[in-house]
Amino acid sequence: MRIQHLIGGRPVDSTATFETVNPATQEVLAEVARGGKAEVQAAVQAAKDAFPAWASRPATERAALMRKLGELITKHVPGLSRTETQDTGQTISQTGKQLVPRSADNFNYFAEMCTRVDGHTYPTPTHLNYTLFHAVGVCALISPWNVPFMTSTWKVAPCLAFGNTAVLKMSELSPLTAARLGELALEAGIPAGVLNIVHGYGSEVGEPLVAHPDVRAISFTGSTVTGNRIVQSAGLKKFSMELGGKSPFVVFADADLDRALDAAIFMIFSNNGERCTAGSRILVERSIYADFAERFAARARRITVGDPMDERTIIGPMISAAHLEKVRRYIELGPKEGATLLCGGLDAPDLPAPLQRGNFVRPTVFADVDNRMRIAQEEIFGPVACIIPFDDEADAIGLANDIAYGLSSYVWTENIGRAHRVAAAIEAGMCFVNSQNVRDLRQPFGGTKASGTGREGGTWSYEVFLEPKNVAVSM
Ligand code: NAD
Repeated sequence: MRIQHLIGGRPVDSTATFETVNPATQEVLAEVARGGKAEVQAAVQAAKDAFPAWASRPATERAALMRKLGELITKHVPGLSRTETQDTGQTISQTGKQLVPRSADNFNYFAEMCTRVDGHTYPTPTHLNYTLFHAVGVCALISPWNVPFMTSTWKVAPCLAFGNTAVLKMSELSPLTAARLGELALEAGIPAGVLNIVHGYGSEVGEPLVAHPDVRAISFTGSTVTGNRIVQSAGLKKFSMELGGKSPFVVFADADLDRALDAAIFMIFSNNGERCTAGSRILVERSIYADFAERFAARARRITVGDPMDERTIIGPMISAAHLEKVRRYIELGPKEGATLLCGGLDAPDLPAPLQRGNFVRPTVFADVDNRMRIAQEEIFGPVACIIPFDDEADAIGLANDIAYGLSSYVWTENIGRAHRVAAAIEAGMCFVNSQNVRDLRQPFGGTKASGTGREGGTWSYEVFLEPKNVAVSM
C-alpha cells in the first residue's frame, strides 16, 4: 500500500518515502510519501486559497458537512479501528469501542457548536460595543502517535467547523487512519483545500509548517520538548499546546478501595499506558499503602498482554522499538533508584509467532517509590505504575504538585470537603474526583505548567480557532 499526501483535494506523492510498520509484528503496512518544504508550501497555499469561500459559508452548511463526515466515520468504525490497531498497537477493544466512535462524536459535537457561536454586547450611554468572532485562517494541526485518529479529529472538527482551513501533520509513526480521514472528508463533500494532510517527519514537515508565515494558529499535541521548540520557532501565532503529563492519582484511606483500584489500573494500563492523562504516580495514604500496593499488583498480574487485534487483550505493543527501549530503560532504572518491583519487569512476555517480534512489555508496578526518583518525575509513557506513600492531606497535595507537569489529576476519598479542597489545590488542568478520566466534549481539556497552554473543548476551542473582534458604535 502507498499513502500519499492530500493537497488541494488531490493525492500528491513525494519521491522519498518512509515505512509504517505494525508494532505487534514489525510487518510493513505501507510506504508513505515523505513530505518536505515543497509539500508544506503547496498545502498551506491550498488551505489559504480555500479559506475565503469556506469561512464565508453559512455555519449551518459547514455543520451539515461535519455531520456527514461524522456519519461516514460511524459507518466505517470496523475498518478504521482495524487500521488504527495495526498502525499503533492500541487494542481493538479500545479503538473499536471508544476511540474511533468518539472521533465521530467530535464532528457531531462541533457541527452543533459552530451554529451557536455568539458574541457579547456591552452597551454604554455613548457606545454600543459588541463582539464578532471570525475564523482565524490557515491552521497547522499536529498530532502525536498515541490515539492518532481521536487526536486528529479532535483538532480537525473544531478547526473546520468554525470556518478555518487546515494542514494536518500526523506522526510519522501512525499516519494511516488520518489518510482515510482525508478521503472520507472529500466523500462527505468538504471542498478541496479545506483539509490538507502532509506526511513526514517533524524536522522535515513539522518545522517548516509551524514557521510558515501564512499559518495563523497551531494546535499541537505531543511532547513537552517538541512543544517548547515549536513555541520558539513559530513566531507570533495562536497556540494550543497539549503536552506531556505525569498525573497524580491520590487515594485516601477512606476511599472506596475496589473502585479506586479499578480506576487506578485503568488509568495506567489502558491505551498500553501510552496516555497523556495516565495516572502514573499513584499516591496512597500510608495506613492503606501496603494493602493497596499488593491488591494493585495482583490485578496487574492478571492483565493480558498480546495481540492487539484480540478483543481480550488489555495491553498491546509499544508504538516502536525505540519507544520500547525507552520504557525498558525506566524499568531497569526503578530498582537502581531503590523502588521495589512488585510485578512485570524486563522479561519479555511469552507470545507466539509472529508476536515475538513485537514491541511488547509486561505491565510493571513499582512500590516504595520516592517522588524525587526519576521514575516518578519523568513521563515514561508506557505501562509502568509508581506507587508512592503519603502521610496526610497536606503531604498528598505537596507530592501531587512537586512535579514539572500539570495535565490531569485524580482524587479518591469519601470525605466531600477534602475532595473539593484537594481538587482545588492540585496544580493541573483537570481533576477527576472518585472517577477515572471521563471526557465531556464541553470541558476544557488541557494542562498547566509543562503540560501546556490553552484549552480545547466546547467554547474553550474559541481560544485557538476563532478570533474575537470588538466593534464599538457611537450612539
Ligand atoms: P512528539 O513531540 O515527538 O511528536 C508529536 C508530533 O510533533 C509528531 O507529529 C512529530 O512528527 C511532530 N514534530 C516533531 N518535531 C517537530 C518540530 N520541531 N516542529 C513541528 N512538529 C514536530 O510526541 P510523540 O512522541 O509523538 O507523542 C507522545 C507525547 O505526546 C507524550 O509526551 C504525550 O504525553 C503527549 N500527548 C499529550 C496529549 C495531551 O492532550 N496533552 C495527548 C496525547 C499525547
